[in-house]
Amino acid sequence: MSATCPVCDTQSGDFPVIHAAVRDATDDYAPKALKCSTCGIVFLWPRMDAAAQQVFYDSNTQLLNTHGDDFDWDDYTRRTRADVMRRVAFLTPHLSMDHRLLEVGCGYGFFLSEIRGKVATAIGIEPGAARQAFAKDELRLDVRSPPLSTAGIPPASIDIACAFQVLEHIDRPIPFLSEIRDVLRPDGLLIVEVPNFADLYVRLSAPYRAFHFQSAHLVYFAPATLQRVVEASGFTVESLIGAQRYAFGNALHWLTKGRPQLKRPSRNVESGLARAADRLYRRCLESTRRSDTLICIARNARTAAD
Ligand SMILES: [Zn+2]
Repeated sequence: MSATCPVCDTQSGDFPVIHAAVRDATDDYAPKALKCSTCGIVFLWPRMDAAAQQVFYDSNTQLLNTHGDDFDWDDYTRRTRADVMRRVAFLTPHLSMDHRLLEVGCGYGFFLSEIRGKVATAIGIEPGAARQAFAKDELRLDVRSPPLSTAGIPPASIDIACAFQVLEHIDRPIPFLSEIRDVLRPDGLLIVEVPNFADLYVRLSAPYRAFHFQSAHLVYFAPATLQRVVEASGFTVESLIGAQRYAFGNALHWLTKGRPQLKRPSRNVESGLARAADRLYRRCLESTRRSDTLICIARNARTAAD
C-alpha cells in the first residue's frame, strides 16, 4: 500500500499491510496498519490530520471508545493510580529536590501531582482541553498547551522529561523527541513508556491483536524500533525494559473469552496462589520484553560543549 513512513520518511507503493482495520474505525476514518520495509516501524495509514486529532483529544474519544457508556470516573482514577504509583516508584531513585521535571502528555495530571513534592519544579504539557483544565484548576499544576517549542520552557532547562503512553499518539516521533531534547539539559534523563507491539498476546490471540490497533495509536513500537527512534532523536539509550501492566487474569480472559477485562485488568487476582502465578507471569513477560509495555531510559547525548 502506498504511504510515507513517519520515522524514516521512506515513500513506498508497496508497504505490507500488517492489520487491515483499527478497532474503532468509523465511516470518516478507517486506517490500516502498515510496516515500513526500510526501518521496520508499524504505523497507521492514512494519518489522522491535525484538526481531527484535536477534536479527538478534546472529546475524550479514546476513553469513550474503550469504555463506552460504562465509563466511570472513580473507577478510572482508581485504575490509573496503579500506573501512577508504578511510575513514581520507578522515577524516585532518579529524582532530586533541585530537579526540574517535565511530563509531556500529562493528561489529568495525576502523575505530576504525586511527583511535585519530590522535585523543585514539575511542568506538564497536555493537548486535551478538559484534561488540561482539570490539571490546572483542580490539581493546581503548571500545565501548558503543545507544541513544546512555544510553551515557554527555556532550552536545556529540564533535568528529567517523561512521556508515558504518548509517543504512540504522535505522527512524527523523531521531531517530537528532538523537541524534548532541546529543553533537556546535556546528559538530562528521558523516560518514555509505550505499548509494546512485541507483546506476546499480539501474537497469541487474534481478538487481542485486533483490539491492539486503535485510531489514537499512530505508531506501534517494539524494542528495536523504539531504541532506533530514541537514538535517532539525539539520545543515548541506557536501558529498554519490559513492564506488564495487565494481570494474568486479563490474559486468561482474552484467551478464553476473546475480550478484555476492562474493569480491573491490572489487579484481578485475590488468592495467594493466583498472586504467585501473576508474579511469575509478569516476570516472564518482562524479562523477555514480550510484556504489554516498554520503558526506555535514555540520556540527552548532547554535552555541555556542544
Ligand atoms: Zn521507515
